[in-house]
Amino acid sequence: MNTRQRMQALRRSGVGPVGMADAGGIAAVPEHPACVIGSGQSCEHSLVDRELNRELFTYEQTVRGRFARIVGVLKQISAHQHDATFAERAQQLALEQLGFELPREVLDDAWVSGLDLRALHSHCIFNSLKLCVERASAEQAGWSQRLPIDSNLLHSCGYHTVDISPCADGRLQGIAPYVLRLLPAPNVRVKAYAGALFDVDGDVADWAQREVERLSGAMEDGDRLNYLKIAVYHLSSSNPGAQGCAAHGSNDRQATESALSRLDELREAIDRSFGVGAAPDVLLIGVDTDLDALRIHLPDAFGDVNPHRYIETGKIYRETLGLSAEAARVRIAEMIADVESTGGWGQGQGQMRDGMRRLVSALAEANLSQIEYVIKHHTGRYAVIGHDEECIVAGEAVRTLQLRNLFYFAHLDTVEEGAPDMDVGIKIFRNLNVAHGLPVPVLVHFEYDSRIPGSRQRAVDRACRVRDAIVGRYADLAKKGLLTCAMAVSDRNGDECCDFVADEAVADH
Ligand SMILES: [Zn+2]
Repeated sequence: MNTRQRMQALRRSGVGPVGMADAGGIAAVPEHPACVIGSGQSCEHSLVDRELNRELFTYEQTVRGRFARIVGVLKQISAHQHDATFAERAQQLALEQLGFELPREVLDDAWVSGLDLRALHSHCIFNSLKLCVERASAEQAGWSQRLPIDSNLLHSCGYHTVDISPCADGRLQGIAPYVLRLLPAPNVRVKAYAGALFDVDGDVADWAQREVERLSGAMEDGDRLNYLKIAVYHLSSSNPGAQGCAAHGSNDRQATESALSRLDELREAIDRSFGVGAAPDVLLIGVDTDLDALRIHLPDAFGDVNPHRYIETGKIYRETLGLSAEAARVRIAEMIADVESTGGWGQGQGQMRDGMRRLVSALAEANLSQIEYVIKHHTGRYAVIGHDEECIVAGEAVRTLQLRNLFYFAHLDTVEEGAPDMDVGIKIFRNLNVAHGLPVPVLVHFEYDSRIPGSRQRAVDRACRVRDAIVGRYADLAKKGLLTCAMAVSDRNGDECCDFVADEAVADH
């Protein structure tokens, strides 16, 4: 059993290292957990939504189980490749265990050249992703209705759109529903870049498009609502020198300051182009990916953010554990006010606006549920604190794929522009997959707008170009069959979601 299989077995079991915890509390405390519990003390916070946590955990197990079974099923199939009824048995096993069929030609050719397990492995990864998308509305129904940060809450805080740029790192890819407890609705855009170094020009264009909708009256309450940009950097509290953000050499300070610089550049770009005061609100958030605890940087009265002025939800969790819900909320408000007034050399000018304060308070409170989720379901700290992604998604986000370490996500329009993000992803997968003889599966995904004539075909063509560019850029892997690409498109305003585009369809065009 290699490292990856061991990790998958561990994940399949739904618990971390043996004896570390059960659903009732912490039996043995891992290093640096958010919550250290003494004997007899309960680890149940009054502000945690336990039902929501149960729903999210059920979903996590369902999705992880789908991928964790793949290697075992392929091994079983491989053991029977010389049987007379091999193809039928293999299909039956795949259907029963994985929920889809395997490509017939690969099975039929096995008798002469051996079973192409690399091709089957990628086929299984892509089809498992497909199942996640197809079953998303049923499998996510339990938690999507309970997430506290929804469009109503965002509106009440004064925001019509939230544009989030986390790092491309797989550990941040469940950020909306899990870490932030934010409903991944159409007015929430996630565009991930290595090191959270988002494309300022692209963001100006996205902001401008929403601004046109707002000014044209197409947006309800548009006259009083604003656009919010959030940059999310990350760190590792238990292994800061090695498991932080690779794009910043695991340097926590550099990750923070670089993300903040991009936010400042975005504000400046919009103010300069459209007049002072046009710039959107910005928020800087850091995630400790070992625990999913947050640093929320507090903007001042001018919306300015400082790397040193933040609240820590891990600390809030510990300080408010045991308080009633009402008392805990009062304490959270005090802790926010304390940081605002005594920010030391991070002190800003005045206090943040009411809407922003409401949002920061809601995010801090919502994250307490995620902290307890990691305590209850992942022994206080994830068993795998590093990379463990199943594939790379390149292009635009698939809204229905939401889970930590499910995929590495490079937001890009062209491979030339997105090369640094793709290079980091490929490097991660050289360790995760190629080192064990497995190919790197890359899903190229773009959105189109069905209201615009020809939009779908252009999205397909773009996916095709990006796929070709990826194959060209990593030719060493592609030639050895160690890089497999699939393409899919989604309608931004309709029902088609992550429909896989067959090569033939592209070739016919
Ligand atoms: Zn990173």
